[in-house]
Amino acid sequence: MKAVCWHDTHDVRVENVPDPTILNPRDAIIKITLTAICGSDLHLYDGVIPSMQAGDILGHEFMGEVVEVGSEVTNLKVGDRVVVPFPIACGNCFYCQNELYSACDNSNPNAWMSEKLYGHTVAGIFGYSHLMGGYAGGQAEYVRVPFADVGPFKVPDSLSDEQVLFLTDIFPTGYMAAENCEIKPGDTIAVWGAGPVGQFVIKSAFLLGAERVIAIDRVESRLLLAQEQGGANTLNYEDDDFMEALQDMTGGRGPDACIDAVGLEAHGTGLDAWYDRAKQALMMQTDRPTAVRQAIQACRKGGIVSIPGVYGGFLDKFPLGAAFGKGLTFKMGQTHVHRYLQPLLEHIAQGSIDPTFIITHRMPLTEAAEGYKLFKQERDECVKVVLEP
Ligand SMILES: [Zn+2]
Ligand SMILES: [Zn+2]
Repeated sequence: MKAVCWHDTHDVRVENVPDPTILNPRDAIIKITLTAICGSDLHLYDGVIPSMQAGDILGHEFMGEVVEVGSEVTNLKVGDRVVVPFPIACGNCFYCQNELYSACDNSNPNAWMSEKLYGHTVAGIFGYSHLMGGYAGGQAEYVRVPFADVGPFKVPDSLSDEQVLFLTDIFPTGYMAAENCEIKPGDTIAVWGAGPVGQFVIKSAFLLGAERVIAIDRVESRLLLAQEQGGANTLNYEDDDFMEALQDMTGGRGPDACIDAVGLEAHGTGLDAWYDRAKQALMMQTDRPTAVRQAIQACRKGGIVSIPGVYGGFLDKFPLGAAFGKGLTFKMGQTHVHRYLQPLLEHIAQGSIDPTFIITHRMPLTEAAEGYKLFKQERDECVKVVLEP
């Protein structure tokens, strides 16, 4: 089959690789009909995620048709059309039982790595380094899905692939970030980053009852999208006085909650052997940790800072004093995608959101290398690239 393979920094190639096969009775094989490049794939593209190996298949946002199931998968049958959540969850452990799917104890065969780094293991993620389990991703013609009796979610034929694809990640990720803000009527929410997740944050915050959303970015086309599609007010952080403007817009009090949908380009760093490399990466990305510092600085007293943006290791100059002094609450983490599939599918089916607004580029899978390049360089006002095998 054809698959998008990582080789090195800024070097991804579409190659012929062996088809996946059932390895475990709870596996399924999915024939991919649509997949997407995620902002967090760019961290892999930039070579800042340790434990990638040449030839690793990328992609954690994908959907398709079930073509084979293992003997213990009874809820799916050949021909079913499914979307697949990006975190892999066993369904049985303490965390899965408590709907904390991205904290699953059993889905990461390289648990020792994150135990060393974080104290406990994190869940496996498709196509996202050996630290996250070393699973082949779904930017391919076929993918093996472990724990297929738990993850894959059947979608109705009345909705197109493009309408449901983003249930795999960015829609639930934006939604959980907004939900973490415990929005009450009249609230103003500020979001750093108007990329794909930021755009879904805006939509979700309004769905959850926010009075106003203020989007902060530097890319004018993204701010325009936030305004026109999302109904957000916007600020460009390259304007020197934008922090002051944010206070002015909220009567000097500050937003009720601030969301960092930017993150840090250093996901999964911190094992001793990789620490220096992580620090090096941080130096090259000085604008990234800035988002969370600004969010803390801007947030009103007693407010919430919600972080869907990816962080991996250690953060320098984290203003804990400001957070303590103002009595802020922090909420963060990888999305528990599984718990949002049904409610968000209903929003799509009812027409309260049409996730296709985010797609700016449609390409065949064979042109994935070009897709990564233009997403990385934000060329052609690129917000979201979908790839069709
Ligand atoms: Zn993603
Ligand atoms: Zn589990």
